[in-house]
Amino acid sequence: MPPKSKLGQNFLHDAAATQRIVAALGDCSGHSVVEIGPGRGAITRVLAPRCGHLLAIEFDPELASRLRADFPPDRVTIVHQDVLHFDFAAASAAAGERLAVVGNLPYYITSPILLKLAASHAALDRAVLMVQREVADRVTASPGSRDYGLLSVTVQLYGPVESLFTLPPSAFSPPPQVHSTVFRWRFAPRFAELGVEENSFLAFLRTAFAQKRKTLANNLRAAGYSSQSIAAALSSSAIDPKARAESLTLESFAALFHALKS
Ligand code: SAM
Repeated sequence: MPPKSKLGQNFLHDAAATQRIVAALGDCSGHSVVEIGPGRGAITRVLAPRCGHLLAIEFDPELASRLRADFPPDRVTIVHQDVLHFDFAAASAAAGERLAVVGNLPYYITSPILLKLAASHAALDRAVLMVQREVADRVTASPGSRDYGLLSVTVQLYGPVESLFTLPPSAFSPPPQVHSTVFRWRFAPRFAELGVEENSFLAFLRTAFAQKRKTLANNLRAAGYSSQSIAAALSSSAIDPKARAESLTLESFAALFHALKS
């Protein structure tokens, strides 16, 4: 079966990297794991004997039926589905625990998958994901760095992330045009600690980062806040009036969010 580039099919053929991905997930013996996009089973083959049960979600019908023939159904359930429609909450409820997630992601839908995992956070414990290096750089970026932006704050709001290792295109068949980085994400949402409501705070972050070249104050003004309330809120939150969203920590965003509300 020739690889389908429109489904992001770049298959991992570096055995050492596969072992590192599975090791990065930590001990999952006796526990349920979800694999996103098992493809030809490179990760599946190493992971299946080491976890309690593996749910592998594959969108390509031909690969899904081949995987079904390759793996024993008592250990590996192959789900032929678009992962963006997969119900992580139901899978977690059926397993009776929060799930670990692993995947060499189809890069054409990386951001939607990350947002889907964030929205499913209550069902998840941790994820080890391979993404395009530039995306991993953005996800794990710190305030003030070149790569820090809306994707960084959104992902980091749901728990700490750490970059693990990077692979060259030659680790895959066919080789993609980009390097790939594996990162780990531990789901520990920060809403309670920051004292913010999930959806309104996410909407506020989108407003703050609306236009990259504008200052934070200008983005807030464009969203309808008055100049006086912005100046007062920035001052009471100890934020430079000329600051850009790209320089703020999540704690500063939360302080500003509260100040603007009051
Ligand atoms: N895990 C395999 C590996 O490492 O060799 C394959 C990884 S490949 C980068 C991405 C896989 O995701 C492919 O098997 C592709 O068919 C599958 N895929 C693409 N879109 C998908 C979707 N919306 N839902 C689930 N799987 C998808």
